[in-house]
Amino acid sequence: MMFFADRMLGKLAKKLRLLGFDTLYLSQIEEDEILKLCFETGRILITRNRELHMKALKQGIRSLLLKSDSWRQQLVELSKVLDLKNADRMTRCSLCNAELILANPEKVKQKVPLYVQQIRNEFYECPVCGRLYWEGTHVEHALEEFRRLNL
Ligand SMILES: [Zn+2]
Repeated sequence: MMFFADRMLGKLAKKLRLLGFDTLYLSQIEEDEILKLCFETGRILITRNRELHMKALKQGIRSLLLKSDSWRQQLVELSKVLDLKNADRMTRCSLCNAELILANPEKVKQKVPLYVQQIRNEFYECPVCGRLYWEGTHVEHALEEFRRLNL
């Protein structure tokens, strides 16, 4: 399942990536380009724009129209029609959507606080922006949020 998140859904896009879903989010893109991209790549369009939603449906694109403007409620709306439980969590960069790779140990030594290095063994890195990921802190926080939303 791959998504395209429309303009107003930047926060939701980040959360979907943390859940493990390939989610494109581009703030500077014309509606026609969005539709073309979704059509050609089979991405599901997620939008709060009814007009865009209707256009997408007419072109045979799978589109989901969200009502809420909070990302938590948006996730709940999505989870009612899609299975969000079935993805490999923490495999994508929340900023770039790139797939994470095992982090270079040298980089971990330089950038990760010592106490974290002592309690964690696995570190991942985004090949695009270089951000490091490990279990704990923001990752734990995100997982906790998902559990609370029953995702
Ligand atoms: Zn990144």
